[in-house]
Amino acid sequence: MATFDLLLLPGDGIGPEVMAEVERIVAWLNAHGPNSFETETDLVGGCAYDAHGEAVSDATVDKAMKADAVVLGAVGGPKWDGVVYEKRPEAGLLRLRKDLELFANLRPAICYPALADASSLKRDVVEGLDIMIVRELTGGTYFGEPKEITDLGNGQKRAVDTQLYETYEIDRICRVAFDLARKRGNKVHSADKRNVMKSGVLWNEVVTQVHAADYADVELNHILADNCAMQLVRWPKQFDVIVTDNLFGDMLSDEAAMLTGSLGMLPSASLGAADGDGSRRALYEPVHGSAPDIVGQGLANPIATVASFAMALRYSFDMGAEADLVEQAIAGVLNECLRTADIMQDGMAKVSTSEMGDAILEEIERLAA
Ligand code: NAD
Repeated sequence: MATFDLLLLPGDGIGPEVMAEVERIVAWLNAHGPNSFETETDLVGGCAYDAHGEAVSDATVDKAMKADAVVLGAVGGPKWDGVVYEKRPEAGLLRLRKDLELFANLRPAICYPALADASSLKRDVVEGLDIMIVRELTGGTYFGEPKEITDLGNGQKRAVDTQLYETYEIDRICRVAFDLARKRGNKVHSADKRNVMKSGVLWNEVVTQVHAADYADVELNHILADNCAMQLVRWPKQFDVIVTDNLFGDMLSDEAAMLTGSLGMLPSASLGAADGDGSRRALYEPVHGSAPDIVGQGLANPIATVASFAMALRYSFDMGAEADLVEQAIAGVLNECLRTADIMQDGMAKVSTSEMGDAILEEIERLAA
């Protein structure tokens, strides 16, 4: 039996409400094995700014570096709108991603059959959908230098962002995608814009080389990123794993997410480089924000955060059976027609955040019995 260090960063807004439901599942797992978790809770985002004048303190970053995994709720809210740019709540999240070198962002888009009618696409297009988008998270246009606005002195300004990738960055992200594909449908689509961008030419070249050298057993398809966007709404079930850069991944993962219905359902994982023993720094968080419009009303859907913790079980703790248990429990409560307000449909039973947590725990108990 192993003991894992889990750092919980609930953050702002609905973050603490949804994290409370994860804590209950951690407590259940601690009581039922096979492994146990030592959890510590700390501040990130606006609450950290209020406490320390920074969106994340050095001490918290240090704990995140040492933890076996971090689960984060959400950051931000109107209370901190006037805070200087470098100290705004999102800066805490960006610093964690940077300091932990979390270069691989995993965004599953799963359409539970019970929610297929909540999608804007037809049921047969999305029902049973299970895609994993692997987005490069620390390079590309969002970080490349120069990145500036220059006053040209003639009433005009010039803005520059730089799309920049080096071989090692493409190499390591596509390996994550190929490894994941081997555990899923064994198919990778690599999305780039090699037709108009040099970075796309290199992306394509490196992915092709890595595939030929080490992953020839995995089906590889190259797709232009704009076509990928179209295919995602035309027939998304053709995809298994999609790997792409930071900018295209930002767009494509949001597009894929919306195929499945609500923001309150979407988990994510951000992984760093593997250590010698195979373990990776990792941060798990829902895709949604702090939802200030519904905070404190029991309206928040905890499923995205609970499903993020299920990803932690799978990718950080090698507890695939327990991850399956949590994911099957989520599918089970949806089949039982329980819905939080964001996914409410006619004829279903509306439940609060904690009632959804109760139902997931009961389902876990039932499935584990
Ligand atoms: P948001 O995701 O917080 O909310 C968008 C809409 O979705 C709202 O109507 C909200 O009520 C609803 N929603 C979101 N999560 C939900 C859940 N779990 N259950 C039920 N409904 C849910 O996005 P926003 O309104 O654009 O941003 C609000 C704040 O969150 C801002 O300060 C923003 O900067 C921040 N934000 C943080 C993150 C993050 O922490 N990773 C991500 C996005 C936005």
